[in-house]
Amino acid sequence: MTPKYIFVTGGVVSSLGKGIISASIGKLLQARGFKVTIQKFDPYINIDPGTLNPYEHGECYVTVDGMETDLDLGHYERFTDIQTTRHNSVTTGRIYKTVIDRERHGDYLGKTIQVVPHITDEIKRRMLREEQTLDFVITEVGGTIGDIESAPFMEAIRQLRWQLGRNAVCVHLTYVPYLKAADELKTKPTQHSVKELQSMGIQPDILVLRTERHLDDSLRMKVASFCNVDLECVVQSEDLPSIYEVPVNMQRQGLDAAILRKIGIPIGETPAMKPWHDFLDKQHRATREVHVALVGKYDLQDAYKSIRESLNLAGIYCGVKVKAHFVGSEDITPDNVEEKLSGMAGAIICPGFGQRGTEGKITAIQHTRTHNIPTFGICLGMQMMVIEFARHVLGHTDANSTEMTPDTQHPVIDLMEEQKTITGMGGTMRLGAYPCQLREGSKTHTIYGKSSIQERHRHRYEFNNRYLTDFEQHGMQCVGTNPDSHLVEVVELPDHPWFIGTQFHPEYASTVLHPHPLFMDFIKACASCSH
Ligand code: GLN
Repeated sequence: MTPKYIFVTGGVVSSLGKGIISASIGKLLQARGFKVTIQKFDPYINIDPGTLNPYEHGECYVTVDGMETDLDLGHYERFTDIQTTRHNSVTTGRIYKTVIDRERHGDYLGKTIQVVPHITDEIKRRMLREEQTLDFVITEVGGTIGDIESAPFMEAIRQLRWQLGRNAVCVHLTYVPYLKAADELKTKPTQHSVKELQSMGIQPDILVLRTERHLDDSLRMKVASFCNVDLECVVQSEDLPSIYEVPVNMQRQGLDAAILRKIGIPIGETPAMKPWHDFLDKQHRATREVHVALVGKYDLQDAYKSIRESLNLAGIYCGVKVKAHFVGSEDITPDNVEEKLSGMAGAIICPGFGQRGTEGKITAIQHTRTHNIPTFGICLGMQMMVIEFARHVLGHTDANSTEMTPDTQHPVIDLMEEQKTITGMGGTMRLGAYPCQLREGSKTHTIYGKSSIQERHRHRYEFNNRYLTDFEQHGMQCVGTNPDSHLVEVVELPDHPWFIGTQFHPEYASTVLHPHPLFMDFIKACASCSH
């Protein structure tokens, strides 16, 4: 069949969890045997979120083909196990860039370039996918209905719905607030949001109401009749203890069935989703808490989203509940490091850019290395492990990365050769999946259970191979390398309970049904150390 399209928009307020709903719809359709992809269209003007500060936009998620994208793509991949690519993340900036480049090229000679039809046509072109193998394309539009910047996306959806007829469905996510003083749930914001959507020519087929309290049938009925939506197409998404409960909650209310009915596809039996339920059972049983420090710079839930989820998922499979505690590296000093990390069974040394907070990371690593506390360094975290070792074991007291101190005498981390001629900032790092060869007999090799792996990257600096022998002779083993460029990808200390640093980002590859082996093994070590 030709792909069917599901558009997911949001109203009333942002942060309602459109990404989770989109990922859940993807999961439910996939469980019915359909081939699905999920894409995100963001209304901001940056070409991609790669240059954004995590405080602006949370984590930047990296696809296998090296696109820096919105963190919602992480939800899509974790829920569905489907790898996304650069086609799954589009911004207003990318749309305009394509159109403006075309204009300069002379493709529209003689014509005035306008938002409608040129920008909307380019949005439509990217929303429609060429892969004939896809059954469903779910398109989530960032932002909230009524925002000036999302108007061209809405116009594109309006046109596509007209063009695609029954092959397109609109799901609108809104918020039903509870007013304490009146002890009432209010549907008015939802009514307004739907009106706004209708004023743009879009009638939603399905409404998902986010709520902190259960909505009874009379409220759902009220929304249905005011918004021209069938009662069974008004679904509620109550706050749940875990985002991973959302797909089954949506299935219970027949969200996937409602979508199929709208499109005219026979509904058939409800899939059992056994592996997903098995996972949820494990999650319910995992109650013993294991505390892990996230040594980083950004005290914000979304900044290290994939790392937090990877820890959480790994914990569930190890039968424990991981509590991740942010420890601001800027505040860590040799005098307070013990106190800052007290009660922590292990530490993740987070990725990052720039000098700020790096000395605190090094201090934390010195503490965890010398106190046998499980330590997992990711990207910048791995680089800090290397610097700490160079300073305190190799005796190069001024060792550093040239990112922090360009004129250091001991640049144990240095700019990659191919980066030296690059000037622009956006999309110019070493990005995406690269192969890595693991040394047999190493801990990392045992953990992965194989020699050849592929992991995703996002960095400019690298381990300086001039120092490789020195490190290995003193006990830090470089056990993972790129088979072509010989870049060091993994370092480990064989004599430590758990001390591994990866230049790549394993957190992007953890999914609900396939937790990452490195995170699993790290949590196992933390759980056994914290008995
Ligand atoms: N700033 C470091 C580099 O560019 C590490 C990047 C990261 O942690 N993602 O190499």
